[in-house]
Amino acid sequence: MKQEKEIIFNGDFEDSEEEEDDQSQDYESDEELNKKKKKKSLLNTNKNLIMNVSDTQYAVVKFVGKMIYKFKLQYVPYQEINNWDFCWTDNAVLPETLAKMQSHQKINHFPGMYSLARKNHLGKNLNKMQKQFPEEYDFYPRTWMLPSEYNDFKQQFGKAKTFILKPEASCQGKGIFLTRCIESINPTEHYVAQRYIHKPLLIDGLKFDLRMYVLICGCDPLRLYLYKEGLARFATQAYIVPNTNNLDDVCMHLTNYAINKDNPNFIFNSDEKKMDVGHKRSMSSVFQLLRDQNQNVDQLLADIKDLIIKTFCSVQPILQQNYTQVDNYANNMCFEILGFDILIDSSLKPYLLEVNHTPSFTTDTPLDQYIKKNLIADTITLMNINVKTKNEVIQQKKDEMQKRVLTGKKTKLSIEEKKQIKLQFQKQRDEYESQNKGNYELIYPCSKSYEEFLQHSLKIYEEWTGANIRRNQKKESIQINQEPQNKSQSQPKKIILEKKSNLYKHVQSRINTNLFPTNKNEQTKGNEVIQEGEEQPPNQINTIPEVDNDHFVPYEDYQQQSLESIKELCAYTEKRGRELQILDLIQYRKVDNRLNNSHIQQQNVQNIQNILSPISQIKGVLQGMAIKNVKQFAIRKNNKNIKSSSKQINESEHDKLYENSSKQLILQSQLNYQQSNQQGLNGAYIKPKVFSLKLSHPPKGYKLQSLPLLIQQNYTKFRYE
Ligand code: ADP
Repeated sequence: MKQEKEIIFNGDFEDSEEEEDDQSQDYESDEELNKKKKKKSLLNTNKNLIMNVSDTQYAVVKFVGKMIYKFKLQYVPYQEINNWDFCWTDNAVLPETLAKMQSHQKINHFPGMYSLARKNHLGKNLNKMQKQFPEEYDFYPRTWMLPSEYNDFKQQFGKAKTFILKPEASCQGKGIFLTRCIESINPTEHYVAQRYIHKPLLIDGLKFDLRMYVLICGCDPLRLYLYKEGLARFATQAYIVPNTNNLDDVCMHLTNYAINKDNPNFIFNSDEKKMDVGHKRSMSSVFQLLRDQNQNVDQLLADIKDLIIKTFCSVQPILQQNYTQVDNYANNMCFEILGFDILIDSSLKPYLLEVNHTPSFTTDTPLDQYIKKNLIADTITLMNINVKTKNEVIQQKKDEMQKRVLTGKKTKLSIEEKKQIKLQFQKQRDEYESQNKGNYELIYPCSKSYEEFLQHSLKIYEEWTGANIRRNQKKESIQINQEPQNKSQSQPKKIILEKKSNLYKHVQSRINTNLFPTNKNEQTKGNEVIQEGEEQPPNQINTIPEVDNDHFVPYEDYQQQSLESIKELCAYTEKRGRELQILDLIQYRKVDNRLNNSHIQQQNVQNIQNILSPISQIKGVLQGMAIKNVKQFAIRKNNKNIKSSSKQINESEHDKLYENSSKQLILQSQLNYQQSNQQGLNGAYIKPKVFSLKLSHPPKGYKLQSLPLLIQQNYTKFRYE
């Protein structure tokens, strides 16, 4: 289906139930008229297709959906309703949303994309790859995460002259500054610090960068398209290599439209046909200009494609892990248009500045209107979103179901069979997409192999998540089981949560059971340990209370914040030389009555709260720690004390010390609990989510036990670092 280029978007859109006029009445011939009619009737069937636009502010998105594809627009929040076929949101998507989707539904984000789209995550991921492949990943300016890498960063002053500092999670140039002096940086503040590319390629004496649109339409395996059109955004003040006098000239050093458009020098584009004038131009016009200057644009483009693919390689395992929640062999339920910001230096080398997961679809100039309308339309075509495809997918599912009913068993596919099915889908997609890619170019899969990068990033990911450590633990535990009984008795059961879906189920079951029990009798319920590969009974999952969206923190955010928090906490406890062993980290949610029955160890919580609150944007307060964990805390702390105070103590001394110390700690925690009760817990926004963390070397005999994966990740990370 080729897009309807003749439908012009002028920046405005108002939805109405009425039939819109056919804007192209003057057909040249009967044949053309028939062709158009046929296309129109095909598109008319799309009226049954629901596009949820409840969470997009962009007129151009709604316009394309309604006017070009004839979808029915739906405005009910997409998380509250599940009858949409296609959802376009301006915000990140939760893994939970994906988990609820059916195979014919599509959404315009991948859960987990924060790993590229947040400056600090992008920095961390690319730095890790750079360490292993310094030359292959030299497209990313050297970057330091502050404050954690402050000391190393400090050493750089004198070597390079100018650095650019960016707030971790902002955009549009907000809060960015250039510096040549370390004293101007607060050593405790969170920044992404980067070497400043001081010799950028200039056009008309101005610095510019490119906004390139990349479509990821599959993560397992990766499937990437580059849009052939994009934007070039120019600074509005002539460029001078940075010196102490011009570091503050944002309209010279920053190319953000949001910054430069307010400069009186800014020339707006007023005609989509004149794309090569002003301070925002089409990307193609810039390439043409460079070609006219005999610059090697083909090489530049090849380098840019290579850079894009390598960037995705660095996070592919994260995306894939998030995607395992759906059985989607076609690999096509999520897609995402990412804005890659590329700076070219004077030797025509491209640098990646950042990746935007919600690139602006503001259309305040004819150039924006033209490019963005076509970009969105081409994306919908490429994703094959139409009634016919929807019906085929549903039919396919029905057939599978029927087959299952007839044979009376759930056919489990082997890895090889799954691989074959995936390949078949991929082939179908190749065929369809090669005919329907509009202005997109497929850049991955391609003839060059990126396997070594993918493999390395998988290795990093596994190290980070502790998957390889768990594998070793598994081996160990097999060995232990083969040893005499008395030894293995002291080993608590071990949980291995290989799949994220298991993590959710596990965490959810804990939420509903022991962490904040409604009465004391229930406390033991949550002690079950999920064994590897074991599924939770479905009824436990059904009992999860509905999420209150007003107070719900996206899992991704939560995950980020808690990872950061844990690191902070480790640094904090190390500094204090103190052992805070088990913490219950909480994902906030509206106050839960069960909380009132939980036991709180206020003292620890207060400490954590002090650390977490400045870096956490979560609404609410961190207040909870279940008694069960307090007990464990006591026991583990005691174990640790024993270990550190005397390695030679004999068994009975050990037991005695253990008992006394445990008692003391439990008494103390109960006292704290009473105090905390006096302070009252009302008004807390709490959803207990991930609990238990050990921050230093485990005491003898201690094993990870029923800890959610997330915490295990950190546990193992910090344990072995
Ligand atoms: P934001 O998301 O706030 O736009 P960016 O990382 O894109 O942050 O940076 C904003 C602008 O600063 C870029 O458009 C570019 O002009 C300039 N810039 C960013 N990083 C560098 C760098 N390392 N060297 C030179 N200029 C840079």
